[in-house]
Amino acid sequence: MQLVISSAMLADLQQLARVAAQQEICGILFGRDGRVSARRPTRNVAADPGRHFEIDPRALIDAERGERNGGDAVLGYYHSHPSGTVRPSITDAESAAPDGRLWLIINGQDAAAWQAVPDGEIYGRFDAIPLDCFGANGQTAAQ
Ligand SMILES: [Zn+2]
Repeated sequence: MQLVISSAMLADLQQLARVAAQQEICGILFGRDGRVSARRPTRNVAADPGRHFEIDPRALIDAERGERNGGDAVLGYYHSHPSGTVRPSITDAESAAPDGRLWLIINGQDAAAWQAVPDGEIYGRFDAIPLDCFGANGQTAAQ
């Protein structure tokens, strides 16, 4: 598995992360076979959004309902780490279901992709997966 996203979409997310400064931004990624076709920002409803994130559960319910009704498939989630690395935190691992969904973690400069699995190499929950960006010319370049 890999996460494939357009360089323009990734740049947009990194810009949003920079603008949000010390707040973690988050949202839902849609697509199939690891390829992101769309993203939907959601509220971060965590008690401390400067240190954690929690996707607005209503937004996730809406997205999953949409998928069941033939809409875009929920591929995973994105969120930012304002002042840290783009590795999952232990809180991320504790809150992640081992459902195979893909997690994109960004900050203003960096990005990395992870998959939530039952026996992951990171905190028992995440495996690192390649993040590929493709530009307007359709070529990919691994980050
Ligand atoms: Zn995190």
